[in-house]
Amino acid sequence: STKTAYRVLNPATGEVVEEFPTATDADIQDALAAAQEAFQSWKDVPITERAKVVSRIAELFTERADELAAIITEEMGKPISESKDEAEFCTDIFNYFATEGPTLAADQEIKAIGGGRAMIQKLPVGPLLGIMPWNYPYYQVARFAAPNLMLGNTIILKHAENCPKSALAIQKIMDDAGLPKGAYVNVFATHDQVAEIIADPRIQGVSLTGSERAGAAIGEIAGRNLKKAVLELGGSDPYVVLDAADIKAAADAAWATRMENTGQACNSNKRMIVMEDIYDDFVAELTERAKNMKPGNPAEGTENTFGPLSSRAAAEGLAEQLKDAVNKGATVHAGGKLVDGPGSYLEPTVLTGVTKEMRAYKEELFGPVAVVYKVSSDEEAIALANDTDYGLGGAVFSTDEERARKIAQRLEVGMANVNGVGEGADIPFGGVKRSGFGRELGPLGMDEFVNKRLFYIA
Ligand code: NAP
Repeated sequence: STKTAYRVLNPATGEVVEEFPTATDADIQDALAAAQEAFQSWKDVPITERAKVVSRIAELFTERADELAAIITEEMGKPISESKDEAEFCTDIFNYFATEGPTLAADQEIKAIGGGRAMIQKLPVGPLLGIMPWNYPYYQVARFAAPNLMLGNTIILKHAENCPKSALAIQKIMDDAGLPKGAYVNVFATHDQVAEIIADPRIQGVSLTGSERAGAAIGEIAGRNLKKAVLELGGSDPYVVLDAADIKAAADAAWATRMENTGQACNSNKRMIVMEDIYDDFVAELTERAKNMKPGNPAEGTENTFGPLSSRAAAEGLAEQLKDAVNKGATVHAGGKLVDGPGSYLEPTVLTGVTKEMRAYKEELFGPVAVVYKVSSDEEAIALANDTDYGLGGAVFSTDEERARKIAQRLEVGMANVNGVGEGADIPFGGVKRSGFGRELGPLGMDEFVNKRLFYIA
């Protein structure tokens, strides 16, 4: 399964815009040597000096937000205003770690009961490999790169094959910000070359954000080579609505969250679990919103339009999951069809009546599909919320915060939310079960690729 096609294919038009050659084996060796050499000096640069470079990276993401946004909108079809928000969010992430990093990485004295002094030091481990997906081409890289550059690790980055231009734009930001050569090296690697990089003794860890399939492949290679891995994988997050003071506002919030990034977010509210007394109204409100949306050019970003999925294959795959559900008795209230034409558009969809036999029950629906389930008790809501192999996030909404909190306490997830979803550079992110392991962002984001060295003085 060696992939070689690093190219920009505009999913709004179906046109190939630009192709990029894959790395040669010599390029890979050069990247490994450069990352190793840069590590020897970068690790010894005082953290407050590293912070200056990381702050400059932060500034460049905002200075270049418009051009960065245009690149990903063309590559993967994200509506342009969301693309710009993403670039600016990277500024927050690099700033967060530049500011908090020196404290987060400081030596920590611990109690040495038997006498003497004991301390935990947080030391960098060396060159790392990052493997990142196309759904948030800048943000995914930022979550990994910012804390690790602050720690003094260096990075080889393999981006998704459909994001070569954003991958190069990130490289340029790193270079222009004054990172030493080799501290961040983008490679257009094949899957076989990725395996070689992980196996190389200079590499000390690998972080992947992507699908379960990719996570299993990379986890296996990492395990075989005794390398630490962080895996941020898929999700099918429950979004439990018990009651609502304002059903329209509740539907607005649920719909906006589900449609963000045209439904292609790992922690999107993929399963809405709604109490029976508000269920009909809730479904009707979502259906009205879905019917109001028309396909549009993501580069223009007009209101009430939806953009394409990242690729025709992604749209067709999602349409297959929908067809399977409908064939087995599910109801489509709005949308449900691929849009004719060369782009990879699928209509925003509201789907109910999903049962265990359907693929849609167990699988992640990675696109603009709101699945709504009806429940009649809190216990039923909890059982359904947890009846998934994934465990990324979950949220519970109610006018009765105490009741919502009791349910959220019992979610088997890495991120449990009540009456809103916590998000930000300072808020940790990650999952359990088949959503992977490890955490990014917030204080935990600087805790992964670290030698937590004991330093003991008798
Ligand atoms: P993907 O196909 O798994 O690709 C992700 C990255 O892994 C790409 O760079 C891809 O490279 C690479 N890759 C895949 N298989 C590989 C292999 N055998 N060897 C080496 N590299 C390999 O995922 P995607 O479809 O782009 O992303 C969507 C998935 O990511 C969804 O499941 C979503 O939920 C998940 N996600 C999770 C999080 C999180 O934080 N938990 C965040 C965002 C997205 P190529 O492009 O060259 O194949």
